Amino acid sequence: MSELPERARDLAPRKRIGLVAHDNKKRDLVEWARYNRRLLAEHDLYATGTTGSLLARELDLPVARLQSGPLGGDLQIGAMIADGTIDFLVFFWDPLEPQPHDPDVKALLRIAVVWNIPVACNRATADFMIASPLMTDGYERLLPDYSAHLERPLGGV
Ligand code: PGA
Repeated sequence: MSELPERARDLAPRKRIGLVAHDNKKRDLVEWARYNRRLLAEHDLYATGTTGSLLARELDLPVARLQSGPLGGDLQIGAMIADGTIDFLVFFWDPLEPQPHDPDVKALLRIAVVWNIPVACNRATADFMIASPLMTDGYERLLPDYSAHLERPLGGV
């Protein structure tokens, strides 16, 4: 029988990591990933299209590639977070450049918070997260209680 609290999900040592970088941040992500290649090789990697091609080439590791971000890739990653398929996100978004898919960027960041998954939006945070002992030890991620939302009164409907 599971010893997890009712609303917890076990983050296994082998994590499913989503990786996304806007164009001006791709170099940052590639450098970070190259430096951490050995650690990343212990996990399953998923990425938006262009980011994924770069990472697969630079790391020589399997990377599951989704659509390019502006063509729906951010939303695909978000959907995978919502259904529990991705449990860790490295998202280097560009704070200085408006993106054609800004609503999707916001949606991805929002859904990561909704489901309480770890998110790194810059290299310093990514460094701290990947170096954490929780990366290898496993972690009980608490799932927020959305029952009040799900059972809310709908005004007679
Ligand atoms: P890309 O998408 O990896 O296909 O460039 C990233 C993004 O802009 O969300």
